[in-house]
Amino acid sequence: MPSLRVGIIGAGSAVFSLRIIGDLIKAGIFPESGIVLMDVDRKRLENVGVLARRFNEESGGNMRFIETQNLDEAIRDSDYVVNTALVGGHEYLEKVRSIGEKHGYYRGVEAQEFNMVSDYYTFTNFNQLNYFVKIAQKIAELSPKAWLIQAANPVFEGVTLITRMVPDVNVVGFCHGHYGVHEIARSLGMDMNKLDWQVAGFNHAIWLNRFVYDGKDAYHLVENLESKDWKPTNPFDDQLSPMAFEMLRKYGMMPIGDTVRNSSWRYHRNLDTKKKWYGEPWGGVDSKAGWEWYRKWLEGVVNSIELVADYVKQHPREEIFEVNKLSEFLKSHGVPESVWKSVVRIAERDKMSAEQHVPFMMAVSAGIKQRLIVNIPNRGVLKDIPDDVVVEIPAIVDKNGIHPEEISPPLTDEVVRMYLYPRMTRMELAVRGFMERKFEYIKEILYRDPRTKSDDQVENTLQEIINLPENVGLKKHYLLS
Ligand code: NAD
Repeated sequence: MPSLRVGIIGAGSAVFSLRIIGDLIKAGIFPESGIVLMDVDRKRLENVGVLARRFNEESGGNMRFIETQNLDEAIRDSDYVVNTALVGGHEYLEKVRSIGEKHGYYRGVEAQEFNMVSDYYTFTNFNQLNYFVKIAQKIAELSPKAWLIQAANPVFEGVTLITRMVPDVNVVGFCHGHYGVHEIARSLGMDMNKLDWQVAGFNHAIWLNRFVYDGKDAYHLVENLESKDWKPTNPFDDQLSPMAFEMLRKYGMMPIGDTVRNSSWRYHRNLDTKKKWYGEPWGGVDSKAGWEWYRKWLEGVVNSIELVADYVKQHPREEIFEVNKLSEFLKSHGVPESVWKSVVRIAERDKMSAEQHVPFMMAVSAGIKQRLIVNIPNRGVLKDIPDDVVVEIPAIVDKNGIHPEEISPPLTDEVVRMYLYPRMTRMELAVRGFMERKFEYIKEILYRDPRTKSDDQVENTLQEIINLPENVGLKKHYLLS
């Protein structure tokens, strides 16, 4: 059985790294692998390291863990490098959002037509895009055969940028948005094993093009799920919201996962409008209240990891990774249900996390064939989309790499021309702006924004953003004063 070297960059990420480490251990096919945990935050790094080692020990695993703040160490000689870092953190995103709001851009300049996802900064987090390129260049230098697995956002702009700037690096982007299909199937009481489905489009812009159950077309059953009594159970719960069905009517296919969040300004203009389409009380996760809910949840996960790490250090001989014990421990410390339920999933030894990173490694390095939803350059899969634009599509992955499925039936004309084209144009402005160092293109994004009313509004907003202390690199890159 192969042993791997996996570098995880941004290993302190509340969402990803423990799921990936947990999956690697649970998969049980990569014994004696070495996992290099890299983060700039020493405390988060230490906590994740403590939990990773303990889970490995309690599971009888044989993995080795290294914590480092050195990027080269996480990349050198790796088989896989997973990037889950958010440069500047959520604090930077909030700073930029509040500058936008001050200048008349409700929910910030990055909340735009077809891109309302609140941590999907496509042009104002220069440091994030720059880091993507730096990591890819280092892989080309230090471990040219490695796969770069891109989890950090923006996956669409990011993977397109990497494949254009560092074309020799193997890169694939993953997102979990397509699980919206499972949610639809669950609502219809369907068995996933009998469902033949496909989604296709761009990251956060994917559409259900095939839905065949037990050999029969079942798309009409999806249409029938619309209900006047629908209410969200949490801010992310929007797959069956009025917005999803409005988009289905408009574009002729069901939007899946985060795509539902990415409607147009018509549905995001203000809180009342958001509530109408995404449900009360939050108006979706990208409203102020919805995003605060998510930030609190993330904070809860980070704090829970710290609580468990402290416990492990104080009780070196006691086991903690047992579902009941871990949940009782977290509950006794006042951790809310939505948080502890998510954290204890690592202790469910017979269940992988449903993230696609480790299944990808199982396919490529151990030849265990998988069907995954991947972000890769189009290369003819979606007709009418250029080859060098990254698309999100189903593919079979095996030892020989990624083999995209034929997309059948094709996406509707409305999806391609009225949704994917404008989204692609915005991506081009951001990616070409970066590559050609043309700040003009970045400005153009704002001029095309329906919220822009004057030259001053654009100039003042961008000036304030580029003058933030975090943006010295941006100024230098675009030769701005
Ligand atoms: P987070 O801020 O909680 O974690 C990010 C980590 O990156 C932190 O530990 C931080 O210290 C670290 N970091 C920052 N700069 C770094 C650097 N230069 N080098 C190494 N590490 C660095 O953020 P999060 O909410 O966990 O999100 C992380 C990323 O994952 C975001 O881009 C987010 O949009 C993305 N995300 C992707 C998906 C998906 O399915 N693809 C889902 C959720 C979140």
